[in-house]
Amino acid sequence: MDRVERLRKLQEESRQMRQRFLLEDGTPNPEYHTPRVCPVCNNEDSLTPWLTTDSGNRYVKCNCGMRFVTPTMTANMQEGLYTTRETTGYKWDAWKHTVESLKPATAPKHSQRYELLLKHSHRGKLLDFGCGFGNLADELKFFFDEVEGLEIDPERAQVARDTFGITVYDQKIDDLDLKDRFDAVICYNALEHFLEPLAALTKLHEAMRPQGVVYIEVPAWGSLSMKILGGMHHVVRSIEHINMFNAWSLGRLFEKAGFQVLEWRTVKLDLSANDFFNYEFKRNEFVHRLNPLLKDGKSYRFLCRACDSVAARLFPVLLKVWRGAGSYLQMVASA
Ligand SMILES: [Zn+2]
Repeated sequence: MDRVERLRKLQEESRQMRQRFLLEDGTPNPEYHTPRVCPVCNNEDSLTPWLTTDSGNRYVKCNCGMRFVTPTMTANMQEGLYTTRETTGYKWDAWKHTVESLKPATAPKHSQRYELLLKHSHRGKLLDFGCGFGNLADELKFFFDEVEGLEIDPERAQVARDTFGITVYDQKIDDLDLKDRFDAVICYNALEHFLEPLAALTKLHEAMRPQGVVYIEVPAWGSLSMKILGGMHHVVRSIEHINMFNAWSLGRLFEKAGFQVLEWRTVKLDLSANDFFNYEFKRNEFVHRLNPLLKDGKSYRFLCRACDSVAARLFPVLLKVWRGAGSYLQMVASA
């Protein structure tokens, strides 16, 4: 099975896993779900439906700029999505290949993934909050005196320790005493999973030393690719994604936790030409980022490559006039 097939299977299995907790008509089974107030402003009254995905995510929008899933699975079940084999098991088929290819980095890389962090940080000791298999933490070891990780999935935490030799906490941040421990934190595509992102950020604020910075990347709901794909965009289909931010709502969350925003931007178009053509001409089979080529043959491939290369040149120009066009929001704030 190749990578795309594995990932398609993974998406289908996650959708089926989610179905177990829905009623026959696709609505959330109240036995497993609880309603949720806005995780940024606590609003529970003036929420209006935003979109529903075929994976069973029901998003609402709040006046504060936040989009979030409600009702969500209960806190225990939500945590179980990351910590028990019963619910993480289906992912390991696809992850096995990732784990096999993990290798410690041998030289520093300059990556768009952490450019803003390096720009604003005074280095020192870094925490990778939600570090997964630890590969990003490993890349950052060249830039910081010390790097630690936090990953609540004990099996992924162990892979990170074994592969990269870094210290990884596998408890929840609430259960750890991290007061004044870090000069920098990276939280890379993790906050969209959190039932209570404000509590997590508040705890991170305590963990910071003076002049410490926190850098977050999350999927953004206001991007160009979201405007085209709506509920078929992979970031809103994922059953683990329950928060969708924009610059306004993430900035507000940072400020409520005691931080001052230093800089933000959005990055990545996240829509290939082949995906776009599949979306236009074969929508019933469309799976974002995992579509086979719409047509065989050299000329179709050439057309896709040409479109992708034009898009790659034009997108940075678009970002200058429409700052929120990118699919991922990056924000850095000081403690
Ligand atoms: Zn709100």
